[in-house]
Amino acid sequence: MTTLRRLAALALCVAVVTPAATSAKPHDDRLRTLDQRIEELLQEGIARSETFRGLVQRLTGGDVVVYLRHEALPAGVHGRLSFLTATAGTRYVLVALTPDLDALRAIVVLGHELRHAVEVLEQPQIVDERTFVQAYEQATYRRRQFADGRMGFDTVAAVHAGLDVWKDLSLSPIEAAVTGTR
Ligand SMILES: [Zn+2]
Repeated sequence: MTTLRRLAALALCVAVVTPAATSAKPHDDRLRTLDQRIEELLQEGIARSETFRGLVQRLTGGDVVVYLRHEALPAGVHGRLSFLTATAGTRYVLVALTPDLDALRAIVVLGHELRHAVEVLEQPQIVDERTFVQAYEQATYRRRQFADGRMGFDTVAAVHAGLDVWKDLSLSPIEAAVTGTR
């Protein structure tokens, strides 16, 4: 974990001064991870869930860069988005994903957190920790204090995004044909 943190911090430093290399990933460089499993989860989410794909497309070309990494989180917390920093023209957020989830749940949590990233994208006034908390204090429908002392906020939209991703992933082709939904 310490190594991961160091790597993530290093990636941030590098990203600030160096344009990201182009790649054949099914998402642009707004989503950045050094973790191969998370990259695979992103690709699976994009391939299998229309909701997930829509969130990634929404972030594409925007001014919010999302770093993603595995991180041991307080009990009962599976994912968390934090505001990192803003530089000229770009804002950086970090999505932490607890490493002990199966792929299905992990993709649902990532979908939920990507919706939060879209919320940051849609609120240009969020430029630091203070304005981040301010925005979420207005938008939140649920708040709690994490076991590590940090405040957490949630939005109805993010909860719905997670549920929609879950539905997308759960619907088999046969069920989709029967119900006439995607
Ligand atoms: Zn949330």
